[in-house]
Amino acid sequence: MTPIDSVLAAVPADLITTDRDVTARYLTDFRKYMTGAARAVLRPRTTAEVQRIVAACAAHGVPLVPQGGNTSYCAAATPSATGNELVLSLERLNAIRALDAANLSLTAEAGCVLSVLQDAADDAGLLLPLDLGSRQSCQIGGNLSTNAGGVSVLKYGMARDLVLGLEAVLPDGQLLDVLQPLRKNNTGYDVKQLLLGAEGTLGVITAVSLKLALKSVATVTAFLTIADIDALTAILARARALTGENVTSFEYVSDHSLQLLLAAKGHLRHPLSEPAAHYVLLEAQTSSPLFPLEAAVTQLLEELMEEGLVTDGTLAAGGAQRDALWVLREHIPEAEVANGGSVKHDVSVTTTRLPAFIREASAVVARFSEGGRLSIYGHVGDGNVHFNVVAPLGAEPARYKPWFEREVSPRLYDLAVAMGGSFGAEYGIGVVKLDLLDRYGDPAKVAMMRAVKAALDPKGIMNPGKVVR
Ligand SMILES: Cc1cc2nc3c(=O)[nH]c(=O)nc-3n(C[C@H](O)[C@H](O)[C@H](O)COP(=O)(O)OP(=O)(O)OC[C@H]3O[C@@H](n4cnc5c(N)ncnc54)[C@H](O)[C@@H]3O)c2cc1C
Repeated sequence: MTPIDSVLAAVPADLITTDRDVTARYLTDFRKYMTGAARAVLRPRTTAEVQRIVAACAAHGVPLVPQGGNTSYCAAATPSATGNELVLSLERLNAIRALDAANLSLTAEAGCVLSVLQDAADDAGLLLPLDLGSRQSCQIGGNLSTNAGGVSVLKYGMARDLVLGLEAVLPDGQLLDVLQPLRKNNTGYDVKQLLLGAEGTLGVITAVSLKLALKSVATVTAFLTIADIDALTAILARARALTGENVTSFEYVSDHSLQLLLAAKGHLRHPLSEPAAHYVLLEAQTSSPLFPLEAAVTQLLEELMEEGLVTDGTLAAGGAQRDALWVLREHIPEAEVANGGSVKHDVSVTTTRLPAFIREASAVVARFSEGGRLSIYGHVGDGNVHFNVVAPLGAEPARYKPWFEREVSPRLYDLAVAMGGSFGAEYGIGVVKLDLLDRYGDPAKVAMMRAVKAALDPKGIMNPGKVVR
């Protein structure tokens, strides 16, 4: 009997899927960067079943790859091609355990799809402030394991900042139960933090208690033409000040990205009469019925236009117009896919340095890859820009992209790091960024990561080959 046979024998049969037609979708990552192999996909419905599976894997030394919605941008949830690993899908562990409106907290199982939790909070008159483009398919366990960012980080923080409590199965099958939805619980090491952003390498998250917020009573969404890229920092500072720190999203869209999108999706329209080089999608929200948000944003725009920082713009008159503006930001990745995909650089620098980064990085691409089509957009209010490059017209993307990654991408990462920034702002390490962690990671930090991994997962069964070598 092989070790995998022994694990499968120890797990209830109705949790095991081996049908290749069914398992295929668990074996390729969202970006089709890699396709792995696995004899079976295991789909537990309870935390006790997760414990049973992990304990069996630990006993027989079989590696396990936890998987949520499989929307990782760095192939973090895909098994290797060896066929020696099993996939653990959390999709059936999807109950909402409690929503305590007075405590502003929601306790839910790891396999809950993010939009389902957003709707549950909304039904209770509250807001789950985590929000990202993959909301209809990513799961809360995956969001926490990647410490997801998204479009509301400016006001509410990353996924990590929203966690009150956590339940997880550790690599030896032991249950970690620190799920209480408490805002104060100062009792030694905050061990749950280790599993947040660990990309499934230190255990399986089974449930979480999240912070909720008050629902906004007013939302103002504006799509603005900005005078030049250097205006970004000043506009953000003014927007924060005049709205009383109520800016929830401050997203940059370059005209290159917008044009790619409009060409790929013929039914979409440019929201402004005159195209320009740089746009910002700004959204402000307040939960106070007394705060004059519209007046504040109107004054903000008047001042910015008077000073020439903003030269044109449109305000969404209602929910449908707001959605239409957001489509122009959130569907850019699809336009890149329609053009053969992009080489993605998910980098961050301080907001002060962001305009300089965008200018200098654009110059690097112009110099080393003439014709490479820039697609620059992202959560610039957080200093995070998706600095993406699409193959030149007429070039073969399958040849261009590996060439660019080898010859030009290191120059862009060098630039971000030299400017005090990060080579991986929000998507995580997975397998795609292991080399970058080797190159740019602080040696002491990487050593600590290895030590933590060795201490918690001495047999190396949790998502091997991801995050730490
Ligand atoms: C259209 C689109 C837009 C996106 N926008 C953003 C964005 O704005 N910000 C952002 O940060 N990301 C974004 N992403 C990337 C992705 O959606 C996030 O990383 C998301 O948090 C992954 O969740 P998931 O459930 O799909 O996890 P998966 O892809 O299934 O897994 C991701 C990692 O978490 C681990 N994991 C999953 N569930 C568990 C669990 N229960 N316990 C332990 N480990 C687990 C996996 O092993 C893997 O390492 C986007 C992706 C797409 C496709």
